[in-house]
Amino acid sequence: MKVIDRLSPNYDARTRPIDLVVLHYTGMQSAQIALARLTDPAPLAGKYPGPWQNEDVAPDAPLGKVSAHYVVGEDGAVYRLVAEEHRAWHAGASSWDGEGDVNSRAIGIEIANGGHDFGLPEFTDAQIEAVITLLGEILDRWSLKPARVVGHSDVAPERKLDPGEKFPWRRLAEAGVSIWPEIIETPPRDEEYVAHAQQQLAAFGYDVRATGFADAETKAALMAFQRRFRPGQIDGVLDDETRALLAALT
Ligand SMILES: [Zn+2]
Repeated sequence: MKVIDRLSPNYDARTRPIDLVVLHYTGMQSAQIALARLTDPAPLAGKYPGPWQNEDVAPDAPLGKVSAHYVVGEDGAVYRLVAEEHRAWHAGASSWDGEGDVNSRAIGIEIANGGHDFGLPEFTDAQIEAVITLLGEILDRWSLKPARVVGHSDVAPERKLDPGEKFPWRRLAEAGVSIWPEIIETPPRDEEYVAHAQQQLAAFGYDVRATGFADAETKAALMAFQRRFRPGQIDGVLDDETRALLAALT
């Protein structure tokens, strides 16, 4: 596919092989503002004002340096910021499969979309088509299964909501670049059902321990799971449908 180079200096060396792709929304007004932010070697608060910032932040306050491997514009244009071989800085504090430093193993794709701060706009057809093509090439290139494509909210459920409940995961799965659960049965609700669900969440990849009770960590992971697989009701409650979806995936 056609890729436009907009190279970012914000990267360093990976410490382990690529085995994950993390999808994000930019949460900014436009792809062009996101590209400026993600390629800025010395970002300052005054250059990127938005609802995510306190009003009393000084304009010259330094912001964290961030990047991603790709940005997909609203019009479907695909920008390359960091070569896949390098470690881009998109996931922050995060964990998957029991390991932190998701950036070291992941390819990060930022999809231009205002997100929760801007009224959760729809993703465009052009950009979802571009994301599907790009993911197909990445999965091929690195011999990854569709299950290795996750959301930022999956790897950082207590901090992040992106790519958000409007993101069409099912459409990606139908195109063969992600997964979607087919419900087979609802597991029995015995005394161990919370611990069992926690084991399933951890087996899927979430950073959850089997405590046997619905702690904050578990609730955050359940909300991330629902945001992705049952976007109509995101409450972190371990109801029968959520348990059936979880059983279908693990
Ligand atoms: Zn993100």
